Amino acid sequence: MKRLMLAALMVATPAAAQEAPPPKLLVAIAVDQFSADLFAQYRRHFTGGFARLQQGAVFPSGYQGHAATETCPGHSTILTGSRPSRTGIIANDWIDLRAGRTDKTVYCAEDESVPGSNSDHYTVSPLHLRVPTLGERMKAATPASRVVSVAGKDRAAVMMAGHAPDQIWWWNSDAFVSYAGRTPPAAVTKANADAKARIAQARAGMDLPAICQAHALAVPITATKTIGTGRFARTASDAKNFRISPEFDAAVLGLAADLADELKLGSGPAPDILSVGASATDYVGHTYGTQGTEMCLQLLALDRALGDFLARMDARGVPYAVVLTADHGGHDAPERIAMQGVPEAHRIDATLSPKTVGEAIAARLKLSGQLLHGSGAGDIWIDPTLTRKQHAAVLAQAVVAYTANPLVHSVFTKDQIAATPSPTSPPDSWTLIEEARAAYDAERTGDLVVALKPRITPIRDGGGSSVATHGSFWDYDRRVPILFWRLGLVPFEQPLAVETADIMPTLAALIALPVAKSEIDGRCLDLDAGPATTCPN
Ligand code: ZN
Repeated sequence: MKRLMLAALMVATPAAAQEAPPPKLLVAIAVDQFSADLFAQYRRHFTGGFARLQQGAVFPSGYQGHAATETCPGHSTILTGSRPSRTGIIANDWIDLRAGRTDKTVYCAEDESVPGSNSDHYTVSPLHLRVPTLGERMKAATPASRVVSVAGKDRAAVMMAGHAPDQIWWWNSDAFVSYAGRTPPAAVTKANADAKARIAQARAGMDLPAICQAHALAVPITATKTIGTGRFARTASDAKNFRISPEFDAAVLGLAADLADELKLGSGPAPDILSVGASATDYVGHTYGTQGTEMCLQLLALDRALGDFLARMDARGVPYAVVLTADHGGHDAPERIAMQGVPEAHRIDATLSPKTVGEAIAARLKLSGQLLHGSGAGDIWIDPTLTRKQHAAVLAQAVVAYTANPLVHSVFTKDQIAATPSPTSPPDSWTLIEEARAAYDAERTGDLVVALKPRITPIRDGGGSSVATHGSFWDYDRRVPILFWRLGLVPFEQPLAVETADIMPTLAALIALPVAKSEIDGRCLDLDAGPATTCPN
């Protein structure tokens, strides 16, 4: 009888679940602006790293559920298990009108108390992140665990690393840098020498494979600017366009693999974690939109670079698990969207400007000074030196003015958002105010939050460096793929909505690291396709 029951148990447990040793290295890759839409559009064309990851546990409807679909909030959710309402990272920048310096804009990954700093020339810091990352939790459990973070952007590296990484390196205009006083490992010195040599060389345009030829359509943005047919040709010494190209992600992934080798990640007494921020997709999306040859070439090249990276991870002989996701989705340039079946795509105009709206309110209420601060989409802050009565009057008028604006869908006051419970339903069912609640921070959130209508691009002039962007309340900016892979994982696809905040507890479970549910917003996703589970009870 006993023997029979044992046999039944063995049948019920998939072979893979028995054989796969626990990972000694966790690898978390964030592809900046890699929307679920881009994943759906290109997934059948991938043959490299993305093809491998599709042979794992595929969650094509991951959500950065919150309203603030920007880089810093998005990266803050991935390895903390928490929404921006807990991480405190409500935006890339917020305004603190009580800040002790002239520049009241605070960058999410800076320490604004450093003398002489401002939001353009800032001191990179994890100060504003209110919760620990997975790496910090691993180190707290076993100090021998190492935390290594590499990214194209400082905020990506910082938000995935947390407060005390062993190694953290990000790109700063022409080289990988770190916090003051950090000595570069040999891998960083080599990566910087390689990048310098590459940038010094001009680069011919990339060949267009047939898949990308189909995207070659010149789209006029202004009288002198078109997008849609670019191939990343670059003149010598052009570091800016090196960053806006597939070369950039290859450099970041190469450095990450070299650091894994040099530091022997996964070979120590405790598991290690390596986070990688691949930022070029976002730069390409902002500069050229999402539907031209540029994004096509970028994603196919990233697929190859990811394939090379995973091959190097395989060759190390260390059991590893990898997750790939994105910090937010994206939206194409409105000029091309309007040509391709969705004529209501538009750019914003000057009517949203908080300065202008505030001046009209000041005239009516006979007040002076700048009353409203912000960009006009998302958070808007009211002059904190007003009396309580003045503040209430300004708030009421600002709500009326923004609600009446034809570009605006909804306006929420800070009090309304604060009074809304944190959403507990699946993220594809949240209301807009629940999205705002998921990005609410009592100290940092604006006095009102403006949600633009769908398909409105919050960039007035596409003739500048960005033609397209993200940041809205709408699903094209919220939905991102979440792909888990490890050796022996039985592939499955779960199309229902899950959150990027689920990633941290899912990875923690793979290394048997307990995480108190009350401390996070996410939940463990079971990566076992069958009746067994990779999650704690
Ligand atoms: Zn981003």
